[in-house]
Amino acid sequence: MADAPSPDPVVDDLPERAEVLVVGAGPAGVTAALALARAGIDPLVIDRRPGPGGQTRAVWIQPGSLEIWHHLGVADAIVAQAQEIRGIAVHGRRRDMAWLPLDEPDLSVHRPVLLDQPSTEAALLAGLDRAGIRVRWGWRFAELRRPLRAGAHAATVEAGPRRRVVRCREVVAADGSHSAVRAALGLRMTGHTYPRVLYVADLTADLAVERDRAHVLLAGDGAHALLPLPRDRWRLAGTAPACDEDDLRSQATTAVRRLGGDLRSLDAASTHQAHRRILDSFRHPGISLVGDAAHLHSPVGGQGMNLAVADGHAIGGAVADALRGTDRRAVEEAAARRRRAAVRALRTTDVMFRVQTAPGRAAALVRPLAFRGLSAVTARSRTARRVLFRSVSQVPRPGR
Ligand SMILES: Cc1cc2nc3c(=O)[nH]c(=O)nc-3n(C[C@H](O)[C@H](O)[C@H](O)COP(=O)(O)OP(=O)(O)OC[C@H]3O[C@@H](n4cnc5c(N)ncnc54)[C@H](O)[C@@H]3O)c2cc1C
Repeated sequence: MADAPSPDPVVDDLPERAEVLVVGAGPAGVTAALALARAGIDPLVIDRRPGPGGQTRAVWIQPGSLEIWHHLGVADAIVAQAQEIRGIAVHGRRRDMAWLPLDEPDLSVHRPVLLDQPSTEAALLAGLDRAGIRVRWGWRFAELRRPLRAGAHAATVEAGPRRRVVRCREVVAADGSHSAVRAALGLRMTGHTYPRVLYVADLTADLAVERDRAHVLLAGDGAHALLPLPRDRWRLAGTAPACDEDDLRSQATTAVRRLGGDLRSLDAASTHQAHRRILDSFRHPGISLVGDAAHLHSPVGGQGMNLAVADGHAIGGAVADALRGTDRRAVEEAAARRRRAAVRALRTTDVMFRVQTAPGRAAALVRPLAFRGLSAVTARSRTARRVLFRSVSQVPRPGR
């Protein structure tokens, strides 16, 4: 893992004024801060966590995020640690039943890579540190006073018993799925929660299969994905009808055995429910909502963190343009563009989620046919291969 700068203990020297307040130092907030810094603006970045690190959530990094991070000077540190992926191998009753390549026929961008989220965040934070911006860990956004006048907000932030008021011209709300900024604005996402429970397990295993591909194991109850992480580690994810720790261990043992391997250790396991939710607008006067604060997707298809990164980059750059007066409509336009991208991703991930998790005999019969059909089409047609790559890679299409 790249060394993240060591966190400051909560300090009292929080500035009272900043041009931009970024709430949240996850992938969206740090990418927004890097984009602002590149445009010559020093944002104030706060995060309620005591320091970097935490749960491994996202592991799949799309080429679109690598393009953005390359532009911001942080991609090399991520690629150097990550596992590159060439495609998806699908295993049914027989091994290697279907193959879905994940690259463009004339590849001009990087392939997808896999890395645990704390390592990715550490590399982003190291880039932020090099740009001279330090995250104020331990400070939590508490409430928003109504704009004093157009372009001037006052946000109350707290760290334990300490309370401060920060005045700023713009707020970037990158504070995740339970966004306090979203709540302070009285906004609610529309959408729903999927009924099926998902499990995620990080494990160490000896597996005699190619590490440069994602492995999808088809089963009667859905599809389970086994994704290679650096250093003999794997991410296993799927649907779980029953879900205590013993069930997850036996799920992991079965999946690893199907690929002819041995489970060495189950390092972390959890269950959760996925959502399909989005805000009506990502922009309110002087405030932009990005990443999980604005939209929530199923993890199938690996889009959530990658959309968050693209949101942060677009909004950070647009806020800088607006504050410098080069383009006063930039933020509204960027927010509308990012919402359209999120709507498209909600549709794609919804289809993927339904195909992979639908219960019952009919679905179990259709799933292999769907994967085999897709595999045959992408083997024959360069256009189909390009469409598959473009639909998940988050490499921006011209004019979007
Ligand atoms: C099990 C699982 C697997 C996933 N796998 C993938 C994947 O493979 N690929 C993918 O693209 N996505 C994946 N995702 C989704 C991905 O993790 C999220 O979409 C991504 O982390 C969103 O980034 P973010 O910066 O918007 O929010 P977050 O990462 O949630 O960051 C928000 C930050 O805001 C801080 N914060 C919260 N409230 C406050 C407050 N009041 N004041 C100050 N700070 C605050 C938090 O401490 C946090 O640091 C997965 C999610 C889960 C749960």
